[in-house]
Order: sequence, then C-alpha cells, then structure tokens
Amino acid sequence: MTNSEISAIAKIITEKAKIAIVMHKSPDGDAIGSSLGLHHFFQTFKAKTSVISPNSYPDFLRWMPGSSKIIDYSKDSKAATNALSRAELIVCLDFNALKRIEKLGKTVAKSKALKLLIDHHPQPEDFADILFHSTHASSTAELIFDFIDLMGEKRRINKSIASCLYAGIMTDTGSFRFSSTTEHTHRVAAELLEKGADGAKIHQLIEDNNREVRMRLFGYSLLEKMKILREYRTGYITLTQSELKQFDYKDGDTEGFVNQPLSVKGMVFSALFTEKDGNEGIKISFRSNTDFDVNLFARKHFDGGGHLNAAGGNSRLSMDETIMKFIGLLKEYKNELNPDIKPDRH
Ligand code: 5GP
Ligand code: MN
Repeated sequence: MTNSEISAIAKIITEKAKIAIVMHKSPDGDAIGSSLGLHHFFQTFKAKTSVISPNSYPDFLRWMPGSSKIIDYSKDSKAATNALSRAELIVCLDFNALKRIEKLGKTVAKSKALKLLIDHHPQPEDFADILFHSTHASSTAELIFDFIDLMGEKRRINKSIASCLYAGIMTDTGSFRFSSTTEHTHRVAAELLEKGADGAKIHQLIEDNNREVRMRLFGYSLLEKMKILREYRTGYITLTQSELKQFDYKDGDTEGFVNQPLSVKGMVFSALFTEKDGNEGIKISFRSNTDFDVNLFARKHFDGGGHLNAAGGNSRLSMDETIMKFIGLLKEYKNELNPDIKPDRH
C-alpha cells in the first residue's frame, strides 16, 4: 500500500463517508473477526460502516462484539445490496476472488466505490483498487492489525477491536500452531492481549461451546468415517446429508474435522467431504502438513483454492464418484505424497 493510497483511505474514514465491509461466504473466525475488528476501528472515527456476510455463520462466533449488526445477504438481500451500492469505500476481507462472495460479487464489481482488498490467500484476482495483501500473514485479522499500524492509528485499538482480531488470528492459526504462525503473529497477539483481549476466555468461547450432538458427530466421524490410506499418507472423512441430519447438523459443526486425519502418525494429506444440502454436490476441505500444495490440488481438480496447506473445493459428482476421483488422483500424486521415495532425494 502506497502513502497516497493510505491517505485516500484515511480521507474517506475521517470524512465519515459510507463504508461497507464484506467477507467471504460461510465466514470463519478470521472472516468474522477481521470484519468486526475493522468495523470497530472505523467506529472510533464515527464512520458509517456496514458489515455484510453472504450467508449465515456458526453460533460459536456470535459472541464477538458487533456480531448482531452483521447483515446476512441470504436473509436480507435488499439491505446487503443497498449497503454495498451506497458505499464510497468497500473493504473486501479474507477472500481473493469475487466468486467467493457469490451474488454479491456482481454488486461489488459494478460499484464505483474505492475498493480495498485485505487478504492472505495466494493469487488475488484483480478487482480491487488498493491491495493490502500478504500470503505470509497468518490471517486477515493479523493484516488488519498491520493495516491499523501502517495508518499510524494503533492507539485506537480498544478491547472490542483486540478481541475480534485475536479471535481471527487464533482460529486461522489453529490456536497458534500452524506453520503460518510467525514471530510477528505472536507479537501482534501479545499486543492484542495488552489492549484488552482475554485469550483464555476467547479460546473458551470458541472451543468449549459445542452442542452435545456436535461432539457426537465428531466421535462418529472419527470412529466410523475416517479412512486412512497409508500408501498415500492420506486420511479422509466423508459425511452425507443423511448422516449430518442424524446429528442435527448446523453451520460450522464440522469445523476442524478435516485436521483430524493429520493427527495420525505419518499422514501428510487430509480431506473432508461433506454432501451439501439440496443436491448441490460435495464441499471438500483439504489440509496438508508438508509442501504438498493443496491450493494447487484444489484449483486443478476440484474448482477451488486456498493456501498451500489449507484449501477447499467442490464436486458435482456423487459422493462415491468424488471419492473414486480423489483416490485416482492420489495414485497420480503418490511421489509428492511420499517425499521420502522421491528419486531426486537419494
Ligand atoms: P475450509 O476448508 O476451511 O473451508 O477452507 C480452507 C481454505 O480454503 C480457506 O482459506 C478458504 O478460503 C479456501 N477455500 C475453501 N473453499 C474454497 C473454494 O470453494 N474456493 C476457493 N477458491 N477457496 C476455497
Ligand atoms: Mn483467513
């Protein structure tokens, strides 16, 4: 971000112009945390900010200050579209392609507002006027902290901003354990604690807030549905709509399941396949813990994307066909999945 870009943004904020913040579909802790954190920052200037989500989000994120103000496009499309079309500044958070906000993408593309994208996903599409982007950032929430710092406004960080940003960083780093967690991430987290975020409380609000059925679904997934393919150092879990319904599935209930196969010794690649409601196909999550690039894998084979070690995709095939395709691909990628047997390593 150049100095003149910073000034352009600062001018809009201080002139109390209308601002819209929009996050990706099925927002996670980072999307909600960075959006609300930035919203509270703009509030310190008394700016008129709307926060928009394409659809609903899990209950365990609803404790965040300001969450009741989020406009859910799937429930009130008019309010969401109006807020976006009236805005003079649109801030896009935690996504790199307009298709990640689905129908709202058209409204953003058409808008004459200044568009700022703050994100950490690789290969951002060229739709924003100003880009504040780094794939080295653990999370978009970390980038919001850096953005505030770059604007020279760190003194404005209050308890609400700190709590939302801490929640974003903590959820996107798996509680500071993924390789995306850097010294800088810890320094930012430390400053957020100083500014009033209660780390233990936030962990509790997010992690220890499960409905009993969700824990049972978790147990069922591990016991009955996790497949381990040692040959490919890969583990995966499948969940059909009827299984999800059996456990009274709600948005966010399968959060974190995809990481579980990687807890099995020797596994490098994991996937979670969930059947979407209403014959919409299969939603897939991918994770890896080596340099096996799941972003590339998801982009190339499953109409998706994400990061090197965490990505998602989609399949229009049936569950069985999707798994057959997946296993076929594992055969092709066998060498990448088993780096020890790569010929050039010996
Ligand atoms: P998750 O598996 O938690 O849904 O997503 C992991 C990462 O992949 C996130 O950073 C998310 O933004 C990205 N991702 C998930 N699903 C998709 C998708 O369908 N398309 C793209 N481009 N990225 C996705
Ligand atoms: Mn993120």
